[in-house]
Amino acid sequence: MEKWDGNEGTSAFHMPEWMIQFADQKQEFNKRPTKIGRRSLSRSISQSSTDSYSSAASYTDSSDDETSPRDKQQKNSKGSSDFCVKNIKQAEFGRREIEIAEQEMPALMALRKRAQGEKPLAGAKIVGCTHITAQTAVLMETLGALGAQCRWAACNIYSTLNEVAAALAESGFPVFAWKGESEDDFWWCIDRCVNVEGWQPNMILDDGGDLTHWIYKKYPNMFKKIKGIVEESVTGVHRLYQLSKAGKLCVPAMNVNDSVTKQKFDNLYCCRESILDGLKRTTDMMFGGKQVVVCGYGEVGKGCCAALKAMGSIVYVTEIDPICALQACMDGFRLVKLNEVIRQVDIVITCTGNKNVVTREHLDRMKNSCIVCNMGHSNTEIDVASLRTPELTWERVRSQVDHVIWPDGKRIVLLAEGRLLNLSCSTVPTFVLSITATTQALALIELYNAPEGRYKQDVYLLPKKMDEYVASLHLPTFDAHLTELTDEQAKYLGLNKNGPFKPNYYRCLGFPETRESCVVKNFLLWNWSSFPLPHTSA
Ligand code: NAD
Repeated sequence: MEKWDGNEGTSAFHMPEWMIQFADQKQEFNKRPTKIGRRSLSRSISQSSTDSYSSAASYTDSSDDETSPRDKQQKNSKGSSDFCVKNIKQAEFGRREIEIAEQEMPALMALRKRAQGEKPLAGAKIVGCTHITAQTAVLMETLGALGAQCRWAACNIYSTLNEVAAALAESGFPVFAWKGESEDDFWWCIDRCVNVEGWQPNMILDDGGDLTHWIYKKYPNMFKKIKGIVEESVTGVHRLYQLSKAGKLCVPAMNVNDSVTKQKFDNLYCCRESILDGLKRTTDMMFGGKQVVVCGYGEVGKGCCAALKAMGSIVYVTEIDPICALQACMDGFRLVKLNEVIRQVDIVITCTGNKNVVTREHLDRMKNSCIVCNMGHSNTEIDVASLRTPELTWERVRSQVDHVIWPDGKRIVLLAEGRLLNLSCSTVPTFVLSITATTQALALIELYNAPEGRYKQDVYLLPKKMDEYVASLHLPTFDAHLTELTDEQAKYLGLNKNGPFKPNYYRCLGFPETRESCVVKNFLLWNWSSFPLPHTSA
């Protein structure tokens, strides 16, 4: 984690060290090649938001037209040129992608219906910097339906779906993003979103902190009008906490990353659904009967283990925490030390959030053709750097697949160079993204509507009741029937019949600060009475 000197500078708008480092990191990942092959389904992730993702598969060939979008004169059918996308003519195809995503994003569609009568975001001017995908488009169009004006850039130079960006531009959204942006393009696009004559943002939706960084650095006075920041990623949230601790956060911020709905659903269900997809696309392997060791039995590990077990794999688990270890045992997995099984396993998957869980020594001892991949933290879990030695040969056999070959001919199959397998090599379920997007929308509504002074210059979590509301909006998809507490039961449990049903510290992960922030911060619940939970409207 970058060093942050909380005493540095006196101005609230002084650019902290982490922001300077951000720029460097961006340069670093930008060195990677920018051409993406025809029908490539692989995805890339920003170093500054490796903890967030998008379902950014693209089916079009960005190499068809080499002209930089910045050099093109494009207009949408209404004559507007306030956007910069790869090719506005792809809008129709992008629209179909958005329509497909809408089917799996029921809560946002419900919010839109709700908005026909009310516009809780009327007057909101939201500047956003996220992956630009069909799912983001559904979110943006929902924000529009709720009354907001939006301007958007991509948080990642590779993940933009050009067709979707075109569809948004055609619908009148000023979108500045295309797949394969350069470093300079990246910041230019962000600047085009915020540096506009006659328009100033009053809300920020960020994923990774780059947009927030840019405004802090270039347009600090904008914060006088900005009502709040909603941040999606682990990295971005961490930076906000650092700013807050140092007394340099000048507006309230909402930590969406640590909301229960994100933690529970992203980590467990997303990984359960995407681990097999990532392994299959890269290796075409069969899972039945294969021996797999999963390092870490937290939410991500549980998801991976469940999927592999269901496919008939023989799954071993490693853990350091006796509680998670006991859970693994009681779920029917053999708890082992990595050393005990490293010679025999066919696949090694890391899910610990830790570093150097798989060392060069482990890699040396693996059997021929062993597959090694990471589903946990960034690219720290496998000591990939230790494989960059002269005696080992690297062969790129497919996109995101390297064979690392030992002098005796043994080879291991390293996926995504140790970065997150599912973010690099598979799609992520839209329904999971729907949960996060709904949380983002509610956080924006909440911050925008909060009366002056309700939120200080601090980082907040969504209250449990809002998390419960996000979940409740997704229940109709399953024709789920929620049980309603009787008056007697509610009294017995000391709960309000309409929630919240769990204390605010329920399943809070990550930073110690998170726990602190769980103390209810007097949320204004935006019109809750008109948003009955399903069981109260039954
Ligand atoms: P978690 O804290 O619930 O689980 C991690 C587990 O690893 C813990 O139980 C811990 O005891 C164990 N562990 C730590 N060091 C270990 C070691 N050396 N050997 C064995 N076990 C060890 O966290 P989580 O929610 O499961 O998330 C894990 C990581 O995955 C985080 O870095 C998170 O950011 C990342 N994540 C990835 C995705 C994805 O899509 N791939 C999604 C969400 C989160």
